Amino acid sequence: MIDTPTIRPLLHLEKGRSRRLRAGHPWIFSNEVAMTAEAKALQPGSLVTLVDAGDERLGVASFNPHSLIAARLLSRNWRDTIDAAFLAGRLRAALALRETLFPGGCYRLIHSEADGLPGLVVDRMCDIVSLQTNSAGMQALLPELLVALDEVLAPTAVVLKNDSPVRRLEGLEPEHRVVKGELSGPVEIVENGCRLLADLADGQKTGWFYDQRDNRAFVAGLARGRRVLDLYSYAGGFALQAAQAGATEVTAVDRSEASLALAEQAAALNGVPLRIARAEAFAEMERLTAAGERFGVVVADPPAFVKTKKDLASGAKGYRKMARLAAALVEPGGFLFVASCSHHMPAAQFAEEIAHGLSLAHRSGRILRSAGAAADHPVHPWLPESAYLKSLTLQLD
Ligand code: SAH
Repeated sequence: MIDTPTIRPLLHLEKGRSRRLRAGHPWIFSNEVAMTAEAKALQPGSLVTLVDAGDERLGVASFNPHSLIAARLLSRNWRDTIDAAFLAGRLRAALALRETLFPGGCYRLIHSEADGLPGLVVDRMCDIVSLQTNSAGMQALLPELLVALDEVLAPTAVVLKNDSPVRRLEGLEPEHRVVKGELSGPVEIVENGCRLLADLADGQKTGWFYDQRDNRAFVAGLARGRRVLDLYSYAGGFALQAAQAGATEVTAVDRSEASLALAEQAAALNGVPLRIARAEAFAEMERLTAAGERFGVVVADPPAFVKTKKDLASGAKGYRKMARLAAALVEPGGFLFVASCSHHMPAAQFAEEIAHGLSLAHRSGRILRSAGAAADHPVHPWLPESAYLKSLTLQLD
C-alpha cells in the first residue's frame, strides 16, 4: 500500500466525537464518523486522515467501513507516512522494551494497540516470527510489515497464524501460511531458563502462550519437592518448568495428542521426567479423585470457557466446576493455580466462581497471588478491557 499523507482520503468525525480520541483513546466507532458515500466506498483497511468537525487533522488511522471499530489510530501526526520505515520504527521500540524485560529473543514482540500497531500480534521465537493480523488495516499493511520485520529482525521464517475469531468482524477469512522461509518441525524457545517446543504448523494461537511466563515461574517456585498435575497442559509450559524446579513428579494432561508429544520432546531436551495423560480434563480429575490421588500443586489453565458474551453464564459455571474438581486433588497445604483467558469473563466474577468451587469441594484456603499476563503483553491505558488473562494462585488447607 502506498501512502502519501497530502493526498490521503479524509475521514470526518461527527461533531463532538473527537474528544475520546484527543484524550488518548486509539479507536473511532462507526457511529462517530460521517459515513458519506465516499467513506463507505473506501476499501476496508484504507489509510485515512482523521478530521474533526472543525476541520482539524487529528492523525492517521486505518479505516474499515464495515467494522464497528471503524478507525484505528496509527499516529497522531497525520504527516507521518505509513510505510515499512514507519512500521520498522514501531517494531524497534517494541524490541527495545522486550529486550529490557526479557532479554533473549523469546517473547510477544507486538501486542496490538499498546505497541502502537492496532490489530497486530507478533510473537518472536528467536529467529522465527509468528504473527496475526486481526484488522483489515493490518492485513492491508502486511507487505510493508514483512519488509519492516526483515529490516529489524531478519527472521529466518515468518508464519501467518490468522485463526483469531475477531478477524471475522473485520471481514477477514482465516489463513495459515508460511510467508517467509520454511518451518522444519517444532520451534525451540527458552522461557524462564526452560527449553520448550512450539508448533507453528498446527499449534494453538500463535504457537506459544507467552502470557503465562511469570505465572509459570511463580508456580514452578512452589513445585519443588511436590507432586504436580498440569491440566490443559498444551505443550507443557507449566509442567516442564515445575519439573525443572525440582518437582518430585509431574503429569501433563491434555486432550491433544500432538501437544503432549511436544511436551514429551521438550522434557527430553531438558533432561527432566514427565508423565503425560491424554484425557478430557474434567473426567480425568474425577478419575484421579476417585483413585485417591493427591498433588502438592495443581494447575488448571484451560481454553476460554466464555467465548462470547452469550456464553458468560455457562462459562462461569465451567470455571466453578473446574475449581471444584481441581481443589479436590490438592493435598492439605498444597497449591492450586487457576486461570481464565476469556475476554468476556470479568476478573471479579472469575474469583467468585473459584471461591464457590472451593466451597463446593469443602476446601478453605487463601489467595497468594492474583496476576494477569506478563509484561510483554502491555495494555493500552484506554483499553483496560483488553487485559484478558486472569489467574489466581491459592494455598488450600
Ligand atoms: N496451559 C497451557 C495453555 C493451555 S491452552 C500453557 O501453559 O501453555 C488450552 C489447552 O487445553 C489446549 O492444549 C487444548 O488441547 C486443551 N484442551 C481443551 N479442552 C480440553 C479438555 N476438555 N480436556 C483436556 N484438555 C483440553
